[in-house]
Amino acid sequence: MSVENNLKQIQANINEACRISNREPSEIKIIAVTKYVSIETAKKAIKAGIKNIGENRDSGLLDKWQGIGDQAIWHFIGTLQSRKVKNIIDHVDYIHSLDRLSLAKEINTRVNRKIKCFVQVNASKEPSKHGLQEEEVLPFIEQLGQYPNIIIEGLMTMAPLTDNEELLRNTFKKVKELQKKVQATALPYAPCTELSMGMSNDYKIAIEEGATMIRIGTALVGKEF
Ligand SMILES: *Cc1c(COP(=O)(O)O)cnc(C)c1O
Repeated sequence: MSVENNLKQIQANINEACRISNREPSEIKIIAVTKYVSIETAKKAIKAGIKNIGENRDSGLLDKWQGIGDQAIWHFIGTLQSRKVKNIIDHVDYIHSLDRLSLAKEINTRVNRKIKCFVQVNASKEPSKHGLQEEEVLPFIEQLGQYPNIIIEGLMTMAPLTDNEELLRNTFKKVKELQKKVQATALPYAPCTELSMGMSNDYKIAIEEGATMIRIGTALVGKEF
């Protein structure tokens, strides 16, 4: 399947998930995750109409950025080591993996503008997953006022790798509930309007539960390495 055809299929699925959940397809942004593919394939995604690109490593992000640059909006979606912040900070529009104050501090120091970040939540409580526990999220966000360049644009989660629809749905529901609590704090630096959740195998359920940004790799651009 070509990237173009994959995208058509994904858009049809987005439309269907929106119909089921009474949402508008225009509320959903697709982030093409290009970590498993070449710059050439990433460019095909841009050509097919993709605007947002996600990478989970600093080297991968910089490689793709060299070839694509300002033709895309750039998302850093992987675990971010504080010492790598300086490498990527001038090349990203969104950071999806904010999960500790030391990282917030480093981002705030290195960035020369305001930057949109997502707080990563480990809603499924899997020990192998990064992110804050649900109950840690509000206290964490309340402490971010000391870092004026950080905007909390939303929450991000990775669901368990499973076909158990109920488990997936419950994971996404928890993050949606948490978003409402963050919004209720009315902190000026935490509008928290976005939910970054849903990957190739679970994005339809994520949309039904409120996702606004879905991060799709394999189902859109395939896997070359
Ligand atoms: C790789 C990755 C994705 C995309 O995964 P697919 O299953 O290939 O769609 C999404 N989010 C994060 C954080 C990733 O690392």
